[in-house]
Amino acid sequence: MRHNRSQRGSTRSHHGLKGIALTKCPDCNIAVMRHQACSNCGKYRGKVVINLEKKPKTKTAKTPKKSEKKAEAK
Ligand SMILES: [Zn+2]
Repeated sequence: MRHNRSQRGSTRSHHGLKGIALTKCPDCNIAVMRHQACSNCGKYRGKVVINLEKKPKTKTAKTPKKSEKKAEAK
C-alpha cells in the first residue's frame, strides 16, 4: 500500500546527516576531527605523528626548461 507524505516523512525523520564529531586537542585546545591527527601540532593520542616543523628548503638540481635550453644554444 502506498504511504502518504506524512508517513513517508516520519520514516525518514531519522535519515538526516549528523554533524561531524569534533574533539579538542589536549595540547593546543583546538577543535580536531576524531581519529585524525591534530593539524596544528601534528599529534595523535599524545604522539607526534606528522612532523609539521618547517624544513629549510633544500635546493634540488633542476633540469633547465625548454626555453632556457634554447637560450643557451643561441
Ligand atoms: Zn594539537
